[in-house]
Amino acid sequence: MTTDFAKLEPEFHQAYNELKSSLESSKLFQLQPDLRAALPVVSIPERVIQFRVVWEDDKGELQVNRGYRVQFNSALGPYKGGLRFHPSVNLSILKFLGFEQIFKNALTGLSMGGGKGGSDFDPKGKSDNEIRRFCYAFMRELSRHIGAFTDVPAGDIGVGGREVGYLFGAYKSYRNTWEGVITGKGGSWGGSLIRPEATGFGLVYYVSHMIKYASGGKESFEGKRVAISGSGNVAQYAALKCIELKAKVVSLSDSKGALIAKDADKGFTEEDVALIAKLKLDRQYLNQLYDAEDSFQSRFTYLPGARPWSNVGKVDVALPSATQNEVSEQEAKDLIAAGCKFIAEGSNMGSTQEAIDVYEADRVARKGDGIWYGPAKAANCGGVAVSGLEMAQNSQRVSWTSEQVDQELASIMERCFWDCLNTAKEYYDVAEGELPSLVNGANVSGYIKVARAM
Ligand code: GLU
Repeated sequence: MTTDFAKLEPEFHQAYNELKSSLESSKLFQLQPDLRAALPVVSIPERVIQFRVVWEDDKGELQVNRGYRVQFNSALGPYKGGLRFHPSVNLSILKFLGFEQIFKNALTGLSMGGGKGGSDFDPKGKSDNEIRRFCYAFMRELSRHIGAFTDVPAGDIGVGGREVGYLFGAYKSYRNTWEGVITGKGGSWGGSLIRPEATGFGLVYYVSHMIKYASGGKESFEGKRVAISGSGNVAQYAALKCIELKAKVVSLSDSKGALIAKDADKGFTEEDVALIAKLKLDRQYLNQLYDAEDSFQSRFTYLPGARPWSNVGKVDVALPSATQNEVSEQEAKDLIAAGCKFIAEGSNMGSTQEAIDVYEADRVARKGDGIWYGPAKAANCGGVAVSGLEMAQNSQRVSWTSEQVDQELASIMERCFWDCLNTAKEYYDVAEGELPSLVNGANVSGYIKVARAM
């Protein structure tokens, strides 16, 4: 009897099949047959570490959670990727995230392998002390397996600046060594400027190139209506960069519901985003802000339990920035019906496979007028790219200015865009007037870099 991995690990298989079908529909294996052998090899992690995390809650009672680190691939550098603390975390989710991370990190052009880790621990509703005790207990085991030249974790959902601080402090005390073993650190203790902003800013830089290319240089973010989901770190900084570029941000959301602008011309302001950032730091929900603020009630509609996609009016750009599989097939169709021309993922695997099939079919059918899709592994690589820059600064014992880091981020996103585009043109037949597939380009380009190194 063979094990049915597709059933056991559905998220991982979704990510693997997406890459495999891009490769198989390209000319890559015809032109370079020697690169085929790496595919089954790259699909299995080099190492998976699973452990128990025993910690004490505020009542003095023992609690236990599952901890993981998937060290997926080190062909290009030390394993690199975030830690996610969320009750949904299991091996399938971490394998999908780790697998995506391999190719995302390759697309940054920096020397980083791919990994991911985390726990089914839920930080929501926990006190600061409980979070600290959990982080120390988690790092007690993880610290044996990581290091600045081995494996460098960072944050992800549920792991922000506070958790990174506790985890770094724990590593330092268990190993008696100060090293750049984790990224996303605070500015005064080895962190890089622009790291908190990097994923959201990078996403908007990537989409700016999509808009410029598709419009033959005539259009930009200015005046565009942008639907964003999520309200965490990625969504907040994507929204701020859109506002800076004079776009209208028409939605934000969280796990309990969505805020939609009643009038696109009065979308979210910088002040609104600052209020949301404070709310999220206090671990509260958007409905609490909506109930408390008259100015929110007059300008936004709050839709409990809803995501933005089927509920925004006319929209030009969609930036899913909450979690995986947050755009369904129907929502993809609704976005196209709402006039959406650009969709790019701040969240990892933000779209279901069925939604991607809808975007890609529309891109081919309507040529330059169809929707154009920027996949997560390219569009959101700015976060891990600045993590790579943080590693570089730590190694040199220097810190760069915001301008330096932001400029480097902008050029990494630009190179990544052209790399996806040119790879798609090289390895696929692109019809006259058709926009090349960025998802295929990202998959093939990321794979070539890793397979060659292996
Ligand atoms: N969690 C982020 C991602 O999905 C960042 C990882 C990192 O900085 O290592 O890319």
